[in-house]
Amino acid sequence: MHRSRSFRRAQRVTSSGRKVIHYRRAKPAMPHCAICSAELNGISMNGGRSRRTNSRVFGGVLCAKCTAEVIKLGSRVEQGEMKLNDVGIKRRAYVLQLLAH
Ligand SMILES: [Zn+2]
Repeated sequence: MHRSRSFRRAQRVTSSGRKVIHYRRAKPAMPHCAICSAELNGISMNGGRSRRTNSRVFGGVLCAKCTAEVIKLGSRVEQGEMKLNDVGIKRRAYVLQLLAH
């Protein structure tokens, strides 16, 4: 089981001077925005599903800034002010998802 990389390793020296490796479970990582990779706000890794996500559209996937940007671009594409190909490649997938609804 210690070959699994889900365990973090910590080098420790025992009182007898022997070097040992202590294994401990990694804490769950904080979710990051899929576009700008900023840490997502309003999320706690302790507790149930509702604490680990937002109920907003793209909650738990995109940060608030990028969500606003995607919604803005989505409405522009919908109104024909912009072409889908003019949207950056990272945001295009999310704009498409918005338009599909
Ligand atoms: Zn973002």
